[in-house]
Amino acid sequence: MSIVRPFNVEQVRSDFPVLNREVHGKPLVYFDTAASAQRPVAVIEAIDDFYRRHNANVHRGVHSLSQEATDLYEGGRKKLADFINAASDREIVFTRGTTEAINLVAQSFLRPVLNPGDEILVSHMEHHANIVPWQMLCQQTGAVLKVIPINQRGELEIESLPDLLTERVKLVGLVHISNALGTVNPVAEVCRMAKKSGIPVLIDGAQAMPHTPVDVQALGCDFYCLSGHKMYGPTGIGALWAREATLEAMPPWQGGGEMIRRVTFEDTTWNDVPAKFEAGTPHIAGAIGLGAAVDYLSSFDPAEIAVHENTVLEYASQRLQEIEGLRIIGTAHHKAGVISFTLKDVHPHDLGTVIDHYGIALRTGHHCAMPVMQFFGVPATARVSFGLYNTVSEVDALIEALLSAREMFV
Ligand code: PLP
Repeated sequence: MSIVRPFNVEQVRSDFPVLNREVHGKPLVYFDTAASAQRPVAVIEAIDDFYRRHNANVHRGVHSLSQEATDLYEGGRKKLADFINAASDREIVFTRGTTEAINLVAQSFLRPVLNPGDEILVSHMEHHANIVPWQMLCQQTGAVLKVIPINQRGELEIESLPDLLTERVKLVGLVHISNALGTVNPVAEVCRMAKKSGIPVLIDGAQAMPHTPVDVQALGCDFYCLSGHKMYGPTGIGALWAREATLEAMPPWQGGGEMIRRVTFEDTTWNDVPAKFEAGTPHIAGAIGLGAAVDYLSSFDPAEIAVHENTVLEYASQRLQEIEGLRIIGTAHHKAGVISFTLKDVHPHDLGTVIDHYGIALRTGHHCAMPVMQFFGVPATARVSFGLYNTVSEVDALIEALLSAREMFV
């Protein structure tokens, strides 16, 4: 996709209608992109246009609307495939998001081959979405979940991998960018190490997609999972990427319409990939909106987005440290878009509630990553997370709000 726009944050902000609103009489400062990004008008309009002009079910109709809907839906798949450099759009299975993509791999790829005593390796910084499906699988099969340790900065202890990657390991599941710490993991290196032992690797790319260009072929992983709503697209849509041959070898996961070729009461044969994994009416508008989000992201030079986001991240990291009693959780050398912190013994929920009165949206809690909270000995943190629309002056507003909150609580 050709680059059409130089990155200009004020212009970018004008693409996001919600950023014009006020909260508690103050301009909205949205620092919760890691939970769900805001949507640019291009995405909103693509969805609106689908429902206004083309709405029909996909794949099954001969009438014009159904064909238009099918073209738009499959167009979303093609855009996403190109965006992550998949070899073919048949390698993209639409799912509800990262969570569903991981569950699909657990149940369809891994469950049939797991034996008691086999191991699944995940890191200590995973989101629950990349822990619980494997734990459930272990309960179903007698396999064992093992953990790659992290250090006090919140970085993967990659030097422990050679010992952990034994012949018992049947899959490595690793987050690309941690939603709780912001750590960017050396995923290509982990893939290389696992590949030497013939172990497949699943990458949880939920947080990486909006921040960094993803090339699934260059990464060398076997599965890449992503969510539309983290990358400025709709909720309820995401994808699993895997090589076509891998998907073809996997049994279907859910049964129903669309995933079949022929059904009798005696027997059913499966459709080709990716339809084999897309039972039932899909989230058509979601796939179209995701395609529009891909177009939106592709309209910038990713290096320019990275420079801007890093400026905001660096500035915020530095300014937050000016606040006495504030502890940043997760200080990896390579970070993206997320800062978790605690402020003395103020409960993060109380902090978040006060900060909201300044119009600032930040997240508080365990961020669906309880094991990493346990590692750092905290029940919860406050977390600011950045998108391409955030600015350093918004960080200044946060610092002022935190200083006032500090006066109130400490
Ligand atoms: N993995 C990571 C790192 C996440 O941050 C999230 C969501 O916060 C998920 C997985 C789950 O994504 P979804 O809820 O869109 O399936």
